[in-house]
Amino acid sequence: FEAKRLRQAVTVYNPGAEAARTLHLSLLSDLHTAIQQDQLRQFLQPKRCLKTGRIVGAEALVRWQHPQRGWLPPADFIPFAERSGRIRQITDWMLNRAVHTLADREAAGLAPIYIAVNISTLDIQDQTLPARLAAMLAEYRVDPGQLQLEVTETGLMSSGTDPIAVLHALKAWGVRLAIDDFGTGQSSLAYLQHLPVDELKIDRSFIQDVHTDPRREALLRSIVGVGQGLGLTVTAEGVENEAELAVVQGCSCDQLQGYLLAKPMDLTAFEGWLASAG
Ligand code: C2E
Ligand code: MG
Ligand code: MG
Ligand code: MG
Repeated sequence: FEAKRLRQAVTVYNPGAEAARTLHLSLLSDLHTAIQQDQLRQFLQPKRCLKTGRIVGAEALVRWQHPQRGWLPPADFIPFAERSGRIRQITDWMLNRAVHTLADREAAGLAPIYIAVNISTLDIQDQTLPARLAAMLAEYRVDPGQLQLEVTETGLMSSGTDPIAVLHALKAWGVRLAIDDFGTGQSSLAYLQHLPVDELKIDRSFIQDVHTDPRREALLRSIVGVGQGLGLTVTAEGVENEAELAVVQGCSCDQLQGYLLAKPMDLTAFEGWLASAG
C-alpha cells in the first residue's frame, strides 16, 4: 500500500511532469524517422508445447534502439504511437519482419514454427489490415498458418468498429489469432465463444506466484478448462520459475512462454537458442 501511495503521489506532484511531456513529444517526432532509419528491432520469445516439449512458436516483441536514449521497451513508445496513429507503421514493420523471417526459415529448411505479432486497437479498426496482410503473405509466399496475430481483450472491447467482423476477415486469410493478456479485461466469458480465435494467452498476473495461492490456481485451472472446452490452445504467459511451471503443467496448460524458458532475443540469438534447445 505504501508503494502504491507513493506512486500516486509521484504521479500527482511530479515536478518533472513537464519534462516528461517534452520527452514524449520529442520521442514522437523521433518515431517518425525511427522506421526510415531502421532503428526498430524485432525480438523473439519462444513458446514451448508442454505435451511434446517442442518449440512450436515465438512471439515477436518490438524494441527501439534509439540513437540517444538507448534501448527502449514498447511501453515507452507504443502508447504514443497509438495516440498519434503511427502504430500502423510499426505494425506493418513488425508483420513484414515476421513474414520475412518465416520465409527465410523455410528457404533454409528449418523446422516450421509460427510467429505471433501483437496488434493494437487501432489496427483492429483499420479495415485495410486484412488486405495489407494478404499482400505481404503473397509476396513472401509464406503459409498464413505460420503467422499469428495477438489482440488483447481490452483492445477488442474498446474497438469502435465491429471487431468480430475484422477478426473473421483476418481468419479468412488463414492466419492464426490469439487473445492476449486474457483475464485482465472486462469482457465476459460468453464473448469468447463468438471470437474466431485459436489461442488463449493467460495473463501473467494469474501465473505469478500461482504455487503459493490456491485461489489463483483454481482460477488458472478454470480458465484452462474454458479455453480448452472451446477448442483453443491455452498458453501460460510469463512463467518465471519451476514452481509456477509445476502448477501450470498440473492445470494441463498447452503451451509455456516466459523467462523460465527464455527471454526475448534478437533473431540471431533466437536461432542459436533454437538450434541448441530443439
Ligand atoms: P505482451 O504482448 O503481453 O508481451 C509479453 C510481455 O511480457 C513482453 O514484454 C515480454 O518481454 C514480457 N515477458 C515475457 N515473459 C516474461 C516473464 O517470465 N516475466 C516477466 N516479468 N515478463 C515477461 P515487452 O516486450 O516489454 O512488451 C510489453 C507489451 O508491449 C506487450 O505485452 C505488448 O502488449 C506490447 N508490444 C510489444 N511489442 C509490440 C508490437 O510490436 N506492437 C504492439 N502493438 N504492441 C507491442
Ligand atoms: Mg503479446
Ligand atoms: Mg500478454
Ligand atoms: Mg501485456
